[in-house]
Amino acid sequence: MREKIDFKDLRKKMVAQQIMARGISDKKVLEAFGKVPRENFINEDSYSDAYDDRPLPIGYGQTISQPYIVALMTESLELEGDETVLEIGTGSGYQTAILAEIVKQIYSIEIVIPLYERAKKILSSYKNILMAGRDGYFGWKEYSPFDRIIVTAAPEEIPPPLIDQLKNDGIMIVPSGPTGWNQVLLKITKKNGKLSTTKICDVAFVPLTRRHD
Ligand code: SAH
Repeated sequence: MREKIDFKDLRKKMVAQQIMARGISDKKVLEAFGKVPRENFINEDSYSDAYDDRPLPIGYGQTISQPYIVALMTESLELEGDETVLEIGTGSGYQTAILAEIVKQIYSIEIVIPLYERAKKILSSYKNILMAGRDGYFGWKEYSPFDRIIVTAAPEEIPPPLIDQLKNDGIMIVPSGPTGWNQVLLKITKKNGKLSTTKICDVAFVPLTRRHD
């Protein structure tokens, strides 16, 4: 099954038709998408859909995001390459790998333990990824503050610990709002301790869940 699919060709087409064609132009972002094998991050029975222009189920009620959305969020982080990034919602680990190709160090937290364990295996070749399996609401104080924060599940309101852990001059990309509709992708910047928020676009993400233990 896997052997019969020309993933390299599909990947090239994805970059051209789904990502560049929609206006993503950051070279570092395009290069990362050209490198990371998306098929490694999805379930075997969806291999032939790996490069489809849509999110795909990854089990446990979660999804791997649409390639364009991953690209848009990555470009919106305005990365130079020397940043430390906190990611909340590892999921498949695909976004994590894309970021690891670009930045110095990424810290990624996933609340669904089997997903955390699966992503940890898939991402084991990257030396600049540190992962934790727990509720990401509280961020990762030990390694804070972060140059960038990316949240890949939607909270109804931005968790205050994440705001606290964003460096001055830092950028946070986060979807926000109730599940299913009325969600917006936000870019939050911190300057001299003050926040400013701009809307990037409308989106549909899985909710940021909480664990009370
Ligand atoms: N970028 C990922 C998106 C996965 S979906 C990808 O493309 O694969 C969002 C993920 O956030 C899910 O795996 C979900 O389990 C996780 N999540 C939800 N609430 C969370 C929380 N409070 N802390 C950490 N992860 C959370």
